[in-house]
Amino acid sequence: MLQVENVSKSFAGPAGEVRALQAVSLSVAAGEFVAVRGASGSGKSTLLLACGGLLQGDAGRVVVDGQDVYAMSANRRASFRAGRIGFVFQRFHLVPYLSVRDNVLVASLGVDGTGSRQRAERLLERLGMTDRAEHFPAQLSTGERQRVALARAMLNGPKLLLADEPTGNLDPENGRIVLRCLAEFAEDGGAVLLVTHDAAAAELADRTVLLEKGRLVTDTRPEATTANG
Ligand code: ADP
Ligand code: MG
Repeated sequence: MLQVENVSKSFAGPAGEVRALQAVSLSVAAGEFVAVRGASGSGKSTLLLACGGLLQGDAGRVVVDGQDVYAMSANRRASFRAGRIGFVFQRFHLVPYLSVRDNVLVASLGVDGTGSRQRAERLLERLGMTDRAEHFPAQLSTGERQRVALARAMLNGPKLLLADEPTGNLDPENGRIVLRCLAEFAEDGGAVLLVTHDAAAAELADRTVLLEKGRLVTDTRPEATTANG
């Protein structure tokens, strides 16, 4: 579902060039849940943005659902992204003056919104947020805010979910709710790429990759570990 091929990205910094990603290659199959670990500044967020079509690398290719994301026009990429890729961030990025329901429905703008309302209600129900649908973000706990962000990310039935430390600000119970939702998304055939420092999150994943200074240094496949005892 996701293929990252030799993607590099550098930024100009005050102390010279920062090589945020150095020839990173990675793939996530449909139904697979992959966790990305790495120290702060190792390039995790840059990798996620590159995967999501939000930041083009200086070199390399990103293929999502069979399509080269940076070969298409910016307009086409925007609608491709809206329909197939869901994002969840550590800070929820909800619209403060919209209700919970409308924050979820924001995702249906710019795509064919048929059935969005019913899907929004179902997602809110699944995430235990039905009785909060008329609330505004400021009236929610942080865990509830992240559940709204997750519902928004899943509204259009994406094939790929990209999550950047989504449990970083949450209490353990809400963390579990969010992780379980990501795991179920993968069980239902979606692909998940999760950036996390959370050991529980990494444990739920099928596979963990490690970034170090912009390089992907480990790609742990549990099957291989088991085979070797
Ligand atoms: P992580 O998410 O692992 O903490 P990031 O991907 O955010 O790391 O950043 C990797 C490196 O690239 C860091 O050194 C960061 O300062 C730098 N960087 C990221 N985004 C930018 C940017 N837009 N401009 C300049 N430098 C950036
Ligand atoms: Mg980051």
